[in-house]
Amino acid sequence: MDVRAQFSMILNLEKCIGCHTCSVTCKNMWTNRKGAEYMWWNNVETKPGTGYPKRWEDQEKYKGGWIKTDNGLSLKIGGKLKLLSKIFYNPDQPTVRNYYEPWSYEYEHLFNAADGDYQPTARAISEITGDYIEVKSGPNWDDDLSGSDEYALNDPNLSDEEKKLIKELSTVFMFYLPRLCNHCLNPACVASCPSGAIYKRGEDGIVLVNQEKCKSWRYCISACPYKKVYFNWNNVKSEKCIFCYPRIENGEATICSQSCVGKIRSLGVILYDVDKLTAILTENDTNLVDYIRECILDPKDEDVIRAAKESGISEEWITAAKSSPAYSYVKELGIALPLHPEFRTFPSVFYVPPLSPILPTIDTEDYIPEVDKLRIPIKYLSKIFSAGNEKIIKDVIEKLIVVRKYMRAKMLGDKEKLAEILKNSKLEEDLILKAYKLFTQATIHERYNIPQTAKGSNKDSYEQQGTIGFGLRGKKGFRK
Ligand code: SF4
Ligand code: SF4
Repeated sequence: MDVRAQFSMILNLEKCIGCHTCSVTCKNMWTNRKGAEYMWWNNVETKPGTGYPKRWEDQEKYKGGWIKTDNGLSLKIGGKLKLLSKIFYNPDQPTVRNYYEPWSYEYEHLFNAADGDYQPTARAISEITGDYIEVKSGPNWDDDLSGSDEYALNDPNLSDEEKKLIKELSTVFMFYLPRLCNHCLNPACVASCPSGAIYKRGEDGIVLVNQEKCKSWRYCISACPYKKVYFNWNNVKSEKCIFCYPRIENGEATICSQSCVGKIRSLGVILYDVDKLTAILTENDTNLVDYIRECILDPKDEDVIRAAKESGISEEWITAAKSSPAYSYVKELGIALPLHPEFRTFPSVFYVPPLSPILPTIDTEDYIPEVDKLRIPIKYLSKIFSAGNEKIIKDVIEKLIVVRKYMRAKMLGDKEKLAEILKNSKLEEDLILKAYKLFTQATIHERYNIPQTAKGSNKDSYEQQGTIGFGLRGKKGFRK
C-alpha cells in the first residue's frame, strides 16, 4: 500500500443556483489581468449545452485525456516522438473562437455622449483589439437555454434520439455544472509537458505550472481533457487553477468555495492508494467509478494510518482525513462521482449529481417520485458522471431520494412510512442523517476541513490582488 494525501472538492449540483459568484470571485482574485481576459479558471455551464470552450467534452475534436493501448495508457494527443514532431505547430488546442473573444463595454459613452434624441448605449469592445465587436458567444452564453437548438443540441453527451426528445417542452430539463481544474490523480497535463514545468505537489496533490520553466509549448492545454489549462498571450505562459494554494496553506477555503452562494462546495483531504490506482488504469470504462472508490482509503483503518505515516503523511493530515467531508461524500455515502471518468485522469473533484427538477415527467401520487420518473434522464447523467454506467447513477439518485423521503416522513411524524423507507433503503439511518446534515446544516468547519500546511506569507493580500500568486509580482509582463 502506497498512501498519498490529496485535497479534494465536492460539488453538490442539487444546490447550485447558477449565480456565477464562484467564477467572478475567482476571476477577481486570479485572472483579473492582461493576457488572462478570456480565462475562467472556474466557470459554470448549463447542461445540456456546449460548455466553455465549446464542445470541450468532444475528445475526437480536442484529443485530450488518456486512451488504452496494448502497453497500458497513452496520451490521446500522442507519445513523446509525436509530440516532439509538433513542437513548433500544435493544432490540437482550442482557439479564441472556441473560448470567446473577451469584451467589455464602452461605459464612458454613457456619461460623455453629446445631447441627443436617443439614449446613449455602451457598445461592446474587444478586450484584445480594443475595437467594437458584435458579441456572438461567451463563456456562459448558453446560460439557462436548455433545449435550445444552438446549445443543448450540440452537447456531445446527447444521442440523436435524445436530441429529439429534449425538444419537447414536457421533457426539457437543465442543471448547472460548475467546473475547475480537477487536480487529477493521473494528470494528462503533467504527463504531456516536455519541460517538466507542470507538476503535482507531493504534499497535497495540487497541480501547478512553474512559470519560470514553462516554454510555451502548450501540450498541457491539448492533453487536459477538461480544457482547464489556458495560455496567457501577454507573458506567453500556460496558467491554470491553483486550488487557491496560498489560501489553503493558511487553512482557508478556496475562494470559489468561500464565496459560493448555494453552499454547494465542500473541501477535505482524502487518502488514496497509488498501487491500487496503477492497477486499475486500464480497466473497462464502466468499472472505473467502483475502482476509483476502492482506491480511496478508510482514514480510520489502522493499517492505512500506519502506511500513511510511513509515506510521510503527518498526524495533522491523517486527523483531517478522518473527518473529511470529501471522504464522507465519495466513500461512506457513495454519492459523489468524478466528471467523465473515462478520460482516465482520475479527478479529485467530485460531483453529487442533480435530482431536480423534482417534478416527474408523468403524473404520480407520491410527492417524491421514483428514480425512473425523474426528469433528468439517468442515461444522460451516466454519460457525464459514470462513463455510461447507469446502475451507478440510479444507485446514487436512489440514495438522494431516500434522504428526502426519510426527512419528509420524519418531519410529518409518520412512523409507519419511516419504517418502510428504512427497510428498503440503501443507506443506514445514521448515514441518511449524516447526508441530511452535510446537505443542509453543515457548519463552515464541517464543509471545509483544511489542515494547515505551512504558514504562507503575511504580505498584504489586497496589495497582491491580481498578481497571480506565483511570486512574480513586478516581473516583466506582470502587474507592478
Ligand atoms: S483537470 Fe486538466 S489541468 Fe487539471 S490536473 Fe486534470 S488534466 Fe491537469
Ligand atoms: S457560487 Fe455556488 S451556487 Fe453560485 S454558481 Fe458557483 S457553485 Fe453554483
